[in-house]
Amino acid sequence: MNTHFPNVNMRLTKIICTLGPASNSTENIFALHKAGMDIARINFSHGDASTHLATIRAVKEVNKSKGCTIALMLDTKGAEIRTGEVTTPIEIVKGQEVVFSPTPLPKETRPVILVNYDKLAVDVLKAESILLDNGVMSFEVVSTGKDGTVVARSHDTGHIGSRRHINLPGADISLPSMMKKDWSDLELGIEEEMDYVALSFIRTADEMREVSAFLKKNNSTMRTIAKIETRQAVANIDSIIDASDGIMVARGDLGAEMPFEKIPAIQDMIVEKSRQAGKPVIVATQMLESMIENPMPTRAEVTDVAHAAVTRADTTMLSAESAVGKHPIESVSAMARILEETESHQSSESHHDIFCALGERSALADAAVSMALSVKSPAIIVLTRTGKTAQAVSHFRSNLPIIAMTESPAVERALQMFHGVRTLHVDFDMDPETTIERALEALKKLPFLKSGQKVVVISDTKSRTGSVHTVHIRMIP
Ligand code: PEP
Repeated sequence: MNTHFPNVNMRLTKIICTLGPASNSTENIFALHKAGMDIARINFSHGDASTHLATIRAVKEVNKSKGCTIALMLDTKGAEIRTGEVTTPIEIVKGQEVVFSPTPLPKETRPVILVNYDKLAVDVLKAESILLDNGVMSFEVVSTGKDGTVVARSHDTGHIGSRRHINLPGADISLPSMMKKDWSDLELGIEEEMDYVALSFIRTADEMREVSAFLKKNNSTMRTIAKIETRQAVANIDSIIDASDGIMVARGDLGAEMPFEKIPAIQDMIVEKSRQAGKPVIVATQMLESMIENPMPTRAEVTDVAHAAVTRADTTMLSAESAVGKHPIESVSAMARILEETESHQSSESHHDIFCALGERSALADAAVSMALSVKSPAIIVLTRTGKTAQAVSHFRSNLPIIAMTESPAVERALQMFHGVRTLHVDFDMDPETTIERALEALKKLPFLKSGQKVVVISDTKSRTGSVHTVHIRMIP
């Protein structure tokens, strides 16, 4: 039975950690989990398949040997435009002309920046500028050539190393969001039974549906997350939320594709729309950026993490902080502390700001939350085979812990993404009452529940005609 909860204070907002060279050993993965990691993200934009596979296996090993439930998320590379390999970084000074080119130009006297994309000269015509590394360097387009080259003037002084990420704000690039590599990476994710796939540079709901259909065809239970990081995705947000299992506000690329001052309002809009639709929503990128170098966050970063909790996002995410930073464990621990402290100042009464009743399951969840608040139940217990009822309770953001009890390890892992949900294993019996008794007995293992306490339970109960889904109050034995 898995009773390893990352921290006993019952943090409600979940944490994703990107794993990388600073964190992908089994020791570090367990340490990250103890500090608060609920989901491990593997970024397929970097590294090779054998390293990714080793990291996936290391997470599974920790789950098995330490009794943890860490979910696994694959993040695709997507239609990324990058600069080519260089042996030494290219030095550029402000005002200098450079040539972006898909092929080497041995006779060119100006610095040549190789790119992995042969339609740059076409797509750049609609772009406001060319940005490198999410805007660290920017270039103004001077001219384009029939040979696919783009002459541009640098607004900054700096160095351009290998494989730097290029954004073309304002342009609708001609590449499909899922490239050949992404489909084969997804096949690896399916084979390894990973829990989530986050799709980079997605622009339309149809692209999400195509991936869902592929997963279905391959009998995969992997769930899709749409990364909102392009203008088109923001414009299509309603249909994308509808077509996805969850959403990520990918502020790194989004802040390069759009003016950065627009990001706070867009983030809050996406969190609110996802929450209303009952889809989990992740706030990502640069949350504790300074902790890549320093052991303590800036006060502005603390407020940024707290803001995600205030708006009741499901999950916050660490990228370079946990993948390549100097202080991966301290970063997760700081994030968990900020979230817990912020949540402790929130009331439990907000659930009626959810306006849409999503059917019978949602009505049952609504009733359970009302009942739990009236009788001051310390948690809402949900016996769930598919996880859907626990998700429905999470949707109401009551700020009460939701203990989802299920017999499926895959459902336990998937539920790590949802606000307020913690999971416990229970074996289901043909007789619902036996299952409830087992569940109540198992609850005694949780540090924040005690014998004699009354809790609200959603489960099947027996009726003369079979079993019915019911909300009831039970005492922990
Ligand atoms: C982002 O751009 O914010 C993001 C999460 O994507 P990636 O880290 O893959 O660039």
